[in-house]
Amino acid sequence: MKKILVLEDESNIRSFVVINLRRSGYEPIEAENGTEALARLKENPDICLALLDVMLPDIDGFEVCRRIRATGSKIGIIMLTAKSQEIDKVTGLMTGADDYVTKPFSPAELTARVDALVRRLGQGEDDEKKTYEISSGPFVLNTRNRTLEKNGTRIRLTQIEFQLIKLFLENPGKAMSREDILKAVWGQQFNGEYKTVDVNVRRLRIKIEEDPTEPEYLTTVWGYGYKWGY
Ligand code: CA
Repeated sequence: MKKILVLEDESNIRSFVVINLRRSGYEPIEAENGTEALARLKENPDICLALLDVMLPDIDGFEVCRRIRATGSKIGIIMLTAKSQEIDKVTGLMTGADDYVTKPFSPAELTARVDALVRRLGQGEDDEKKTYEISSGPFVLNTRNRTLEKNGTRIRLTQIEFQLIKLFLENPGKAMSREDILKAVWGQQFNGEYKTVDVNVRRLRIKIEEDPTEPEYLTTVWGYGYKWGY
């Protein structure tokens, strides 16, 4: 069940929101002031979305929003604004909110906004994974974090090794000459220094292969170069 933070100081409105979220299959986490909201978020890093009331007794909802974003958090944020004033909207969106709902709102309106944002966040995650992750057998290369995992275990790579494995994973099954590899990873000016390729392939094999002398993934194409896979 997806956790949703509900920051609202008026207990009757908070209960109304909580009941409706529960009915829609969410797990609401309640907070009645800004400080409490920030504490709940710290305790529940899996909260995916926050509903933030603007008018609060301590720090206001915009400030809570600003502080959430300041931690680098990308959770969904919907502001609950008391009036439909343009200034509230603008301030909310400037502080990093994704959407706003104007009070008074109906249960249907609230859950529609929440569902839509949850869906958008989910799509965002999938898109990021699609763009940034290259998988092959037990390996997952994340080109954004520049990390490699084998069966879920992180393998530490130098920047050159990262470029090298990225090149192979982007060209699975393709025999690549040492010249092509040099050009792609090191650039034109290293033309002819094939030993550099061999040395780095050997180092990479030690890190990724079960038995580097009998490579299973980064294989040799005799008299030519290397290939990812058989
Ligand atoms: Ca309030």
